[in-house]
Amino acid sequence: MPEGHTIHALADRLTRAFGDSPVTATSPQGRFTADAALLDGRVLEDAAAAGKHLFVDIGDRILHVHLGLIGTFPVIPITDDKPPDPVGTVRLRLVGQEHYADLRGPMVCALIDLDTREAIRSALGPDPLDPAADPGVALMRIRRTRRGIGALLLDQAVVAGIGNVYRCEVLHRHRIDPFAAGTELTEELWWTIWADLVRLLPLGVAFGQILTLAEQVREAEQLVADGRAGPITRSLTGERLGDYFERRFATYQRAGEPCHRCGTILRGEKVSGRRLYWCPGCQTRH
Ligand SMILES: [Zn+2]
Repeated sequence: MPEGHTIHALADRLTRAFGDSPVTATSPQGRFTADAALLDGRVLEDAAAAGKHLFVDIGDRILHVHLGLIGTFPVIPITDDKPPDPVGTVRLRLVGQEHYADLRGPMVCALIDLDTREAIRSALGPDPLDPAADPGVALMRIRRTRRGIGALLLDQAVVAGIGNVYRCEVLHRHRIDPFAAGTELTEELWWTIWADLVRLLPLGVAFGQILTLAEQVREAEQLVADGRAGPITRSLTGERLGDYFERRFATYQRAGEPCHRCGTILRGEKVSGRRLYWCPGCQTRH
């Protein structure tokens, strides 16, 4: 499932590719035809993400997209005179001057009003990619439940935008027991988790992939500091984005393998519908 950094990057990409220009909107699959007609020929004013929700302002309409588990919305440069014929079930196609974007398999694709957008936003916990986010709201919600922090990090009403990879990796980075009850999690540990998410997610946006290993994080931060990340971010268009860094994690999908830090065999178990990966040897902090 795409995590929040993917949706924020997608919002940036849509704004860069189509911003302030009229778009052609169609529903090749036919399931969004009437709504697409309302967008057709209007100017794409802005695209923004809140957690895993995407909101695109087109004319005076708001397009709400949630990709769910299998949805994709690639922004692709037009290399011929016009985009190629749609492949597969494309719910919505946007075409601009130099790019087109095909939305396939979304969990949500709808036109909504301002009140609905506000209701969706206010139901979400703070988003680490939102500079105005209030992490105190998340702490309040964490402290009133005995659910484990591993489950709570996936709850979009607690923190918005965190998916399975970030939840597993951030807990391992700080040696936190994923089963530590919300009521028992120290305030200090929450601020540690939040600060790390605020550090890691922008790197995910910049490089189009989740980076959590210490050496990859250091290198990514150096590239950002040197101004070398910009061209990488801008190049992230197309059907397949590719990985700039080798795809490696400390715990994710490594059950049965030894922990890099302490050598204990990592475990994997379903928590909140998704398999949680953790090290029972060194993740003991509460
Ligand atoms: Zn370990």
